[in-house]
Amino acid sequence: MPIATVNPANGETLKTYEAMGAEEIERRIQLAEATFRTYRLSGFVDRARLLLQAANLLDEDQQDIARVMTTEMGKPIKQARAEAAKCAKAMRWYAEHAEELLADEEPAAADVKDSGASRVRVRYRPLGPVLAVMPWNFPLWQVMRFAAPALMAGNVGLLKHSSNVPQTALYLEDLFHRAGYTEGCFQTLLIGSSAVDEILRDERVRAATLTGSEPAGRAVAATSGEMIKKTVLELGGSDPFVVMPSADIDRAARVAVTARVQNNGQSCIAAKRFIVHTDVYDAFAERFTEGMRALRVGDPMEEETDVGPLSTEQGRADLEELVDDAKRSGAAVLCGGERPAGDGWYYPPTVLAGITREMRIHREEAFGPVATLYRAGDLDEAVLIANDSPFGLSSNVWTRDEAETDRFVRDLEAGSVFFNGMTASHPAFPFGGVKRSGYGRELSGHGIREFCNITTVWHG
Ligand code: NAP
Repeated sequence: MPIATVNPANGETLKTYEAMGAEEIERRIQLAEATFRTYRLSGFVDRARLLLQAANLLDEDQQDIARVMTTEMGKPIKQARAEAAKCAKAMRWYAEHAEELLADEEPAAADVKDSGASRVRVRYRPLGPVLAVMPWNFPLWQVMRFAAPALMAGNVGLLKHSSNVPQTALYLEDLFHRAGYTEGCFQTLLIGSSAVDEILRDERVRAATLTGSEPAGRAVAATSGEMIKKTVLELGGSDPFVVMPSADIDRAARVAVTARVQNNGQSCIAAKRFIVHTDVYDAFAERFTEGMRALRVGDPMEEETDVGPLSTEQGRADLEELVDDAKRSGAAVLCGGERPAGDGWYYPPTVLAGITREMRIHREEAFGPVATLYRAGDLDEAVLIANDSPFGLSSNVWTRDEAETDRFVRDLEAGSVFFNGMTASHPAFPFGGVKRSGYGRELSGHGIREFCNITTVWHG
């Protein structure tokens, strides 16, 4: 894939970039390593001052960077502004909390004594340069949720962003520099995915984090495994959205629409499979389909737009194939299901019912505004369907029954369970998945400690 800004609303190529060559990559890795040697010695107060300055600049730039994101990947402009604001919030949260999250820990006195020590501490030390391989769907947020904790922990970052968001990638490097970080603290590598392997094999790069698809995760994890390097993987998802009879069906159907089509349906934590108890299935299906049909699809730069184009032509073709496969195998199309004529990579909000296990869409991630509906006879069947997926990122359950709540928390195979609301990340809560959605956690104290050398300090 060329490194270029191509507007998904009309297919126009606006800007192309030469990939960095081996010499420039070497210069940047060297700079990252040299910078780490001094940056790791900085205190939390200085690190927080820099991150807060970057957050302030990001707030000032919000309108402009939102337009860049919308131009590069097609998200509705309102959502692009909200993404920038969310990044600034996470930066402030880590600036405020990092010191406390990484404070030395003292094991229980009895255990210290048992080990024969006079004193034991656990200290969180930084690891070094970390490579971040990032996706285009939340082009600021995915990077910031790595960068803010990494920089507060004393690490330095090398960003390999998706090839279709180069301007956002360059903006991020510029943002940190303007905030006062020395050049090597955060650098963008304008490179294609084929250049990643060699960088991972470089001893100076100490760890890697990847947010993206399963094949990309597998490639990065395989090389990192060979090199014995720590990785965090945030991969795909096909989150269940379970609706039980005690739920507020109107609200569930309204939130279900947003949960499915946020970011033009291209979110890892979008609800994708709607599993509805048979007693409320018809009522939910009707309201949900109505809501999906009523969405305004159009130019993502327009304030009123709910759903813009998909980010790439290939992305739309992949989604279309999944829908066509389901249709051929007998799925009922309750709305949408046909690509519109005209420019841009638009796809309509679509609801499919009568899904069977043989259909590809049952096991694969639909990365666009396509929802699948399932009818469940009881709670056990709802859990079975929900877990019948290779993914395990998040999950949503609508119920007002306490006993049911416990069952879902106990049994759902996912990194989070959201009751009576849609999945959303927050800087203070851990975020990540199980099964083929990846491993490791981002955000919260768990996230900042992923790229730390957890050091036992023992005194005799
Ligand atoms: P992608 O194709 O995997 O790309 C993600 C990043 O990986 C890009 O920078 C890409 O570079 C790079 N890449 C691709 N193949 C690679 C390889 N073999 N070796 C090294 N790097 C490689 O994914 P995407 O289409 O951008 O993003 C969509 C996917 O990300 C979905 O599956 C979605 O669910 C997942 N996602 C997960 C989370 C989460 O937190 N769990 C969040 C957002 C998205 P190029 O652009 O140069 O190919």
